[in-house]
Amino acid sequence: MSRAGRLLGFAGLCALAVVVALAALRPAPVHRDTIYVFGTLVEIEIRGAPKTDARAAATRVGRLLREVHDDWHAWRPGGALSRLNAAIAEGRTTMVDPRLAAVLRRGRQLSRASGGLFDPAIGGLVALWGFHADTPPTGAPPAPDRIAAVLAKRPRMTDLSIEGLAVTSTNPAVQLDLGGFAKGAALDLAAAELRAMGIADAVLNAGGDVHVLGRHAGRRGGRTGGRPWRVAIRDPFMWGAVAAVSLRPGEGLYTSGNYERYFDHDGERFAHIIDPRTGRPVQEIVSVSVLDTDGARADAAATALSVADAGDWARVAAAMAVEAVLIITDQGQIWATEAMRDRLDPQIAATVRVFGQPHGPAFRPGPGPDAEGAQQAAAAGPNGARPDVALPTPAIQTPRGG
Ligand code: ADP
Ligand code: MG
Repeated sequence: MSRAGRLLGFAGLCALAVVVALAALRPAPVHRDTIYVFGTLVEIEIRGAPKTDARAAATRVGRLLREVHDDWHAWRPGGALSRLNAAIAEGRTTMVDPRLAAVLRRGRQLSRASGGLFDPAIGGLVALWGFHADTPPTGAPPAPDRIAAVLAKRPRMTDLSIEGLAVTSTNPAVQLDLGGFAKGAALDLAAAELRAMGIADAVLNAGGDVHVLGRHAGRRGGRTGGRPWRVAIRDPFMWGAVAAVSLRPGEGLYTSGNYERYFDHDGERFAHIIDPRTGRPVQEIVSVSVLDTDGARADAAATALSVADAGDWARVAAAMAVEAVLIITDQGQIWATEAMRDRLDPQIAATVRVFGQPHGPAFRPGPGPDAEGAQQAAAAGPNGARPDVALPTPAIQTPRGG
């Protein structure tokens, strides 16, 4: 090749390199969609996929979530679950669709693992406390004898028999309410749908319950690398975050809290997580977050751990096979498993108390200053990085006893 020819070839290569570099710097395409289901706004963000693919995938996920919302609705008449509840009350067997049969089996298995602390059969108690309505109840708690009457009938998920698609209950007091793990189970289905449609980088955010696919690619060229999605754990006492967690591809972070659906009466707070043993709302725990690749399990475990006594946290988490847990008490103390603490930013990790040491004491008191200090650290921007997922509506609660 002539000298001029070689020069020309070199220039061509340089031009190609510049084009590739510029393409790598161009922002990855982002598609966002929101739908209102499960009493919350679900945000879908898809990154790095061609516009038409992203739009088609978001539409499919929207349709799926709306279907599931209607089918699994605990109190609105007309859905598959409400038909099943009516049949159970009359002692009849009902045929359900495969998706509902699968979620009921899963609920029964998770309930067993939790030792009954998570129990989707206690819809009767949830209704009694007034939480089967779009707006939180007002007025006084139900009379103790009415609670006792439901408890005496002992509705349990283990009363449910599921033979193929035929569902029946040996106990007519069973009233199914999947609210304790519906968001987790639904986001698992939505994530599977996105994957099946070739989406590799996305986040699903159902009011703070979050599931991610892949890594957050800021730039087109970052598609193979990118960085982890960052998700905030909300402060239950004030507007802001107590911590931010980096999620690995396929992980979800699920939080059960008493600061969204509740009512106050005579200076006491009654929220929507009910202890199946007492029939009364949980009061000592204000927020439980669980990080796991299985959304249904994480969501159910967050509910079960809200109910569990502090001395049982480690045992219940292990029985439900979840490792990364963060619990905030009504006194503003933050407890975390070692696995969760390892995932927090260092300045926040230093403020949490660790529970569930396999060979150590049940609790190892940390130095504090717990929620307040963690909030300040999180507000300062952990490692300078802001969470990718917006916080849901402000929390409005002050710690009991300060
Ligand atoms: P959130 O809906 O705020 O994410 P949870 O995941 O804890 O919070 O779900 C709370 C819902 O679960 C309640 O509204 C009710 O429908 C249902 N529920 C309440 N107590 C229990 C329980 N002990 N076991 C299973 N489900 C429960
Ligand atoms: Mg839950």
